[in-house]
Amino acid sequence: MKSLKENSPFQVDERGYYGNFGGAFIPEMLYPNVEELRENYLKIMYEPSFQEEFQRLLKDYVGRPTPLFHAERLSEKYQTNVYLKREDLCHTGAHKVNNTLGQILLAKKLNKKKIVAETGAGQHGVATATMCALMGLECIVYMGEIDIERQAPNVARMKMLGAEVRPAKSGSRTLKDATNEAMRHWINNPTDTHYIIGSVVGPHPYPDMVARFQSVISEEIRTQLFEQTGSENPDYVIACVGGGSNAAGTFYHFLDEPSVKIIAAEAAGHGVKTGKSAATTFLGKPGILHGSKSLLMQTFDGQVVEPHSISAGLDYPGIGPLHAHLWESKRATFYGITDDESLSAGFELTKLEGIIPAIESSHALAVLNYLGAGKGETVVIGLSGRGDKDLATYMKHL
Ligand SMILES: *Cc1c(COP(=O)(O)O)cnc(C)c1O
Repeated sequence: MKSLKENSPFQVDERGYYGNFGGAFIPEMLYPNVEELRENYLKIMYEPSFQEEFQRLLKDYVGRPTPLFHAERLSEKYQTNVYLKREDLCHTGAHKVNNTLGQILLAKKLNKKKIVAETGAGQHGVATATMCALMGLECIVYMGEIDIERQAPNVARMKMLGAEVRPAKSGSRTLKDATNEAMRHWINNPTDTHYIIGSVVGPHPYPDMVARFQSVISEEIRTQLFEQTGSENPDYVIACVGGGSNAAGTFYHFLDEPSVKIIAAEAAGHGVKTGKSAATTFLGKPGILHGSKSLLMQTFDGQVVEPHSISAGLDYPGIGPLHAHLWESKRATFYGITDDESLSAGFELTKLEGIIPAIESSHALAVLNYLGAGKGETVVIGLSGRGDKDLATYMKHL
């Protein structure tokens, strides 16, 4: 597992900042837990014995390396060379498991016996419950009461895997509230419990730790692209951003390659100006949520604005601090993709390539309509997950 160079402008600094964003804004009660993690995470992650087990399970349990697929019919349609990084083929159906595996091995090294997590659509909850079953650890997942109702299949999967699913009944009873409850649980159980955050959000060191675990995605892309085209670097790399973990992993080893254009797709919902959107870089201002400073959708007096997206995984009012920095420094270009545009892109991929994408991933695919990539150019798109969980949504619009 390779790291960015120490002097990279996209490497986190000692205080947990990427440029103006990041840090650890936490209640005092949480300080010992976060500090224990901050002091130990790099040391543990790069130990040979840790890496040996992590790499073995990525291969034999998760199913890595995931393929890099040259999508010929999609390439023909857009008159460029499109490659899909198939995270949908990971065990449990999305990239989330790369991070949950890493964090659970880390929790074991820290002698933790119990795991707590938050989940929105349930993908991170399922990945966490899966790893807890594999490792024989107790698992509690907080989930908004509303999400429990609308994501019943994933709730059933978590229960079958042996996790306890606890409803978050405060606020809007969705992901933001589940995260608050999970943090509260951690405060009350500091010594025996590890909190597995599911994206590149939260207080330092979470964003950096999660980005490193997910960076296996871009490490593989470089090798696979070289094998297939003779070059490690594409012209464009595209991924969707909810909190930003699949994007961080897909971009990571290209951040310091200026020839690679980095493209992020946000959920514009009904449209950025409709009041029903989750396009944080278009609508957000600097603020603090869930322990770090980043861009955040908020009212003029700092109340969090309820986001909207057709995809539960992108329905979040913020983005991770790395992405706020990529936006501010103009290293990445952000596109707002509407619900309708993502649906069309999902149907198009299914028809042309026989792959049903998660509706989150469809937002990244839809960027092909705006890119203007040329015939000789190479575009890599992160296919973060599979669409089984979204069939009901797709069918409503068939
Ligand atoms: C959770 C999820 C996302 C959004 O989370 P990120 O941290 O932004 O990657 C995107 N795609 C799929 C399939 C997901 O499950």
